[in-house]
Amino acid sequence: MILKDGRYELSGQVDPLAICEEHGCPVYIYDSAIIKRQYKRLADAISVPHFQINYACKALTNINVLRILNNLGSGLDTVSIQEVELGLKAGFLPKDIVYTPNCVSFEELEKAVSYGVRVNIDNISILEQFGDKYPDYPVCIRINPHIYAGGNSKISVGHIDSKFGISFHQIPLVKRVVKSLDIKVEGLHMHTGSDILDVEVFLQGADILFNTAMEFEGLTYLDFGSGFKVPYKLNDISTDIEELGANISKRFNKFCENYGSDLTLMFEPGKFLVSESGYFLAKVNVVKQTLSTVFAGIDSGLNHLIRPMFYASHHEIVNVSNPEGKSRIYTVVGYICETDTFGVNRKITEIKEGDILAFKNAGAYCSTMASNYNSRYRPAEVLVHEGQAHLIKRRETMEDLLRNQIEVPTLEKSLAQ
Ligand SMILES: *Cc1c(COP(=O)(O)O)cnc(C)c1O
Repeated sequence: MILKDGRYELSGQVDPLAICEEHGCPVYIYDSAIIKRQYKRLADAISVPHFQINYACKALTNINVLRILNNLGSGLDTVSIQEVELGLKAGFLPKDIVYTPNCVSFEELEKAVSYGVRVNIDNISILEQFGDKYPDYPVCIRINPHIYAGGNSKISVGHIDSKFGISFHQIPLVKRVVKSLDIKVEGLHMHTGSDILDVEVFLQGADILFNTAMEFEGLTYLDFGSGFKVPYKLNDISTDIEELGANISKRFNKFCENYGSDLTLMFEPGKFLVSESGYFLAKVNVVKQTLSTVFAGIDSGLNHLIRPMFYASHHEIVNVSNPEGKSRIYTVVGYICETDTFGVNRKITEIKEGDILAFKNAGAYCSTMASNYNSRYRPAEVLVHEGQAHLIKRRETMEDLLRNQIEVPTLEKSLAQ
């Protein structure tokens, strides 16, 4: 969304306010051109003979977004059997779906096998059960490289106390299990967490994966996970993809030479591909001046955008209705009956009741983390694609809230007694 001739526009021609008018607010808007730009940027940064991007779809699972990524050549990284099923529905081939669960039931793994998708195992006891039941089904093994990285403790998943992956110190044990059950290990994987700022951190993890890979024969891919940090504000630090790409490509090619075959290098970004494509637009219900603060209270809350409260994430906020007004200082809050603050003391162009605010970086982990808390409907979602705005998810209704509730027929009678 850029400011041009005094108004904001998407993808060079679409007016976000027109989308609000047509589909109501609050609404999520995604710009497919940005998804494409990000995909291409990562693809261009890597120079190895075989490279595969697997989109981590928990960031945003709308089927149209999945189809766009499929069309770009992406595979899929999934963390639940339902995500696997969505991926298959969107047209991904089983071989292009990696299932990377943690602490799921063995039945989910059995289902994944029945679909023929790639299975990534992150626990020695599961590896034993799996190898016992499916001796011929190739597996990927998730290694924990014990690197502390990530924007906050909830998304930092590669450190020593993390529940994710198999410690690289336990590799001798893994090798014994693999040998005794004759398990076919096709790939190794690591994912150190989100919001990694330092390319060096990535490369340290990569070195551990390379060293570990030398201990397994017949590998066809190495998956380096994700965690690329995207900018959240003007001049914000972000992962230098080009620097990372150049460094990892060089090391990967050297590794392949040592290993004696050309493996596929994989990355599985979520945020990097879709975060910046998304905007969350909500109407200002009230402007409330207290003794110390000017609040802008919007027609939404942590039920629709929980990242600021859950992760203390920063989302830029702009007033789409008044792009060039004089700036003032606002604290932007929601309507939920507990503290749901989107931003404190933000400089925003003057806000009037009824104005539409846009939250940036709303493509990843926003709509997929939305809930019906306070019995609110989840918002509509719109995809801007090649200059056209398409409704890709309708706003919920009372019917949706009641869909799975069951009224006990005799309840009224018994309560009346
Ligand atoms: C969530 C997740 C990702 C994506 O992380 P981003 O920070 O969104 O890029 C990748 N791999 C695995 C295994 C994940 O759980």
